Amino acid sequence: GIMIQLPIPRDFLRGRSKWELIDLIDPKKDIDGMVESSEFVSATVKGVMKILDVIARIRQPAETKQSQKQGVQTKWRILSQFDVSEIASPRRAGLAMTEINKFMNNIRVRFAPSPTGFLHIGSLRACLFDYLIAKTLGGKLILRIEDTDKKREVIGAVEGLINILDWVGIKFDEGPGSIVAAINGAQANINKDVGGFGPYTQSERVKIYKEQAERLLKKGAAYRCFCSEARLKEMRESQQAKKLPPRYDRACRNLSEGDMAKKLAKNEPFVVRQKMPLDGEIIAHDELRGDIKFAARDLDDQVLVKTDGLPTYQFASVVDDHLMQISHVLRGDEWIPSFPKNILLYQGFGWQPPKFIHLTLTLN
Ligand code: GLU
Repeated sequence: GIMIQLPIPRDFLRGRSKWELIDLIDPKKDIDGMVESSEFVSATVKGVMKILDVIARIRQPAETKQSQKQGVQTKWRILSQFDVSEIASPRRAGLAMTEINKFMNNIRVRFAPSPTGFLHIGSLRACLFDYLIAKTLGGKLILRIEDTDKKREVIGAVEGLINILDWVGIKFDEGPGSIVAAINGAQANINKDVGGFGPYTQSERVKIYKEQAERLLKKGAAYRCFCSEARLKEMRESQQAKKLPPRYDRACRNLSEGDMAKKLAKNEPFVVRQKMPLDGEIIAHDELRGDIKFAARDLDDQVLVKTDGLPTYQFASVVDDHLMQISHVLRGDEWIPSFPKNILLYQGFGWQPPKFIHLTLTLN
């Protein structure tokens, strides 16, 4: 069996007989509950659960029995990461619980599929990890639909997504009302978002991206590029012919205020590009791989907002992950080459990045 030694708050023991404590640990006497001293109680996991359950019940009277049990189990797992010996009084135990609740409230993991086809098995695998991390740490699982690539959108993809997630049995705590209701099988208001961080469908967030792009332009971390499609094509072809990597030549990066104003007055279409550092090294931290180093000279001034005003994945995902207070981003490792650009974007905004976990790809 598993033996766990849990220091019990002294005040909790005061005035209770040894038998009362054994009863508390093991009311059915089906486990070995044993009081070793007035300060320490050794018990099996079940006994520890019982004690945490008592503490949790005091803290959270509104919880239902089932979710309370799960909550207590999760709290125990999290508590084991804290220095339990620090808890020397019910007040300290209460503070620890407050800390744990705070910790759990801060765990927000998102699954962010694009409706560009049938849900890939690799995406589903990422979703399972999202679910496991969110639930192991007592946090929330959020569904976000990344539908800004209108050219690649496939009719019926969202329905396919609903069917698969419904079959897998994963439930979401937040997301677009109609989709979450269909997946969770709940009677939710299908016209309303579930959760307070919506809208959860990117095409409904265009105004937010516009505002954030303006902020980034003002901060000098991005610039407007008025280069025509024809010019960019010509540039790409000439780079290919010279066997150079395709890269924007930064022609608009240093446009004068006057030229810019003229172009804007003429309503010339533009994209917003990220201003990459010209030299140095960018370090991006992945929870599995540690620090990954990238040379700034290899980074392209990528497009953040397209001429139609829609954001690219690179921009929308950073803005949304920040505004939705996402704590962990799990995604395929095909995103590692652009990972430093994401980190630079967080820096440009002055935001703290979430924890990134890049998963190996599942091919076919
Ligand atoms: N929408 C992206 C995709 O489907 C999500 C990647 C991510 O999780 O950030 O590939």
